[in-house]
Amino acid sequence: MKSKNNIIHNAKEYLNSSDVDVRERLFMLLASVALTGMWLSFIMGLAIHENIESLMVVVGGFVFFLLLVVVGFKLKRIVEVSYIVAVVLVLVMMPINFFTSGGIHGGATLWNLFDALYIALILRGKPRAFFLGLQSVVVIAIYYVYYNYPSLIVKHTEETAFEDSIASYFIIMIFLVVMVSFQTRLYMRENEKANQQSEEINELNRSQNKFFSSMSHEIRTPINTIIGLNEMILRDAPTDEIKEDAQNIESAGKILLHLINDILDMSKLESGKMDIITAPFDVADLIADVAGMIWIRAKEKKLKFSIDISPDMPKQVKGDEVRIKQILINLLNNSVKYTNEGSVELSARCEDTNDPEIIKLVFSITDTGIGIKKDSIPYLFDAFKRVDEENNKMIEGTGLGLSIVKQFVDLMGGNITVNSVYNVGSTFTVELPLGIVGEGRININKAKGTSKKKYAPKFTAPTANVLIVDDTPMNIKVVERLLKDTEINITTATSGEQALEKTLETSFHVILMDHEMPGMNGIECFHKIKTQTGGHSKNARIVALTANAGPECPALSS
Ligand code: ADP
Repeated sequence: MKSKNNIIHNAKEYLNSSDVDVRERLFMLLASVALTGMWLSFIMGLAIHENIESLMVVVGGFVFFLLLVVVGFKLKRIVEVSYIVAVVLVLVMMPINFFTSGGIHGGATLWNLFDALYIALILRGKPRAFFLGLQSVVVIAIYYVYYNYPSLIVKHTEETAFEDSIASYFIIMIFLVVMVSFQTRLYMRENEKANQQSEEINELNRSQNKFFSSMSHEIRTPINTIIGLNEMILRDAPTDEIKEDAQNIESAGKILLHLINDILDMSKLESGKMDIITAPFDVADLIADVAGMIWIRAKEKKLKFSIDISPDMPKQVKGDEVRIKQILINLLNNSVKYTNEGSVELSARCEDTNDPEIIKLVFSITDTGIGIKKDSIPYLFDAFKRVDEENNKMIEGTGLGLSIVKQFVDLMGGNITVNSVYNVGSTFTVELPLGIVGEGRININKAKGTSKKKYAPKFTAPTANVLIVDDTPMNIKVVERLLKDTEINITTATSGEQALEKTLETSFHVILMDHEMPGMNGIECFHKIKTQTGGHSKNARIVALTANAGPECPALSS
């Protein structure tokens, strides 16, 4: 009993094992059903005193088939065995069965169909096509012979024809039920597995996003503090040496921030949570800002940096200014990075489109740098892929920039192309369809006004009252120092509760509010200020300050 249970258990395990090819499992299942069927028909033959020749044929078939299956299983040659069975079925069994059991007056036609099904389900590729073709030829041949030489057929009596037909029907039906149930069960199990896996992947993605979002907070906050305080040192550096050190801290801090931002962007793009925010912006401001960030780097490498803007460029367009800046800065940074001598040029022009509301801006970034080998170009936009690594290993980079650029351009419905000659230079061209805003034309002088002036505040406001709410004293210090030259009156609070005490006494024009604080968080505090009984700052403009960049981060502004 125990060994019988063991056999059933092992058979179940074998049939469910995804390590074994599904066709091999189906073959073994069919073989077991066929052998049991043969065994039963031998017992039944004995019971109804079938003639000895017929019994011998059944026993012979049973032994031959059993040996074939056992040897095939032991030697792990099930595929070969399934071919041998196909040969025997098509060339031996099918014609013998047809000619000895009444031709089309019996069960032979059903068995022919079953053979075709066996081939279709168990064999694969070219052998399957070959055997199906061969079977069709054999079927046509035996029908032809039957029609033209009917005397060759061992005819059934009317009664045996009926019996044979109905018996064949039930046997084949059992085979079909077994085959189809097995396939259906397999399909359902695979489906279940796929659903489970996709749920696991979603869960993993969610925790990855959460991780990136908290990482953004944890790493960006101290980096911003470093960059912010360093800016103060830069502004008031008493000696050139201190200024140079501060400049180095600034560029290292910015590289780190850039890297974290790239990783965050990549994670947002991959989870499909990157939103393109469309709003009108000034094209000259965009180009001036971008150029302002690049020219100093170009100068440091003694590269000529030029800007060429077509005068018919619109003054304003509608699009995601931040992402367009990111695209241009990335491409220009690369041009400076991968150019040792010569020049980097940013050119901008526009083209009309079929849509009167949309204009196409075309930006080209051309350099006389190291260029890109032709066979590397197809991999250029792959994430984490750096090309020509042996020549670039001294140039820092992660291989993320161009992948992000390409995904941003795609999200905006634009196009990016690259034209490059190795050791001569490269041109990256970005085409972006953007919304038209009014008729005005660009102010080219404003766009080209890129030289970095000595720092001076953009405004002063000695009568303005600003409240800074942040639980990290260092962050408060950075904002205080950055606003120092504006002469604004600054009050500080290190918690939501403290902020409410201050708003009860004073009317603030602007409140800079940290989002994440222990106890009352920025959002709660925001709502309390807005509804505070006797509060003096219900109408204050409240701006959230947060290092969180996750897509799930709620918006806060008033
Ligand atoms: P990285 O951080 O390595 O610069 P990117 O995704 O920005 O990553 O660029 C991928 C690769 O493409 C770079 O490693 C570099 O080999 C090549 N590349 C990009 N821009 C240029 C260029 N202007 N000139 C030559 N090679 C470039």
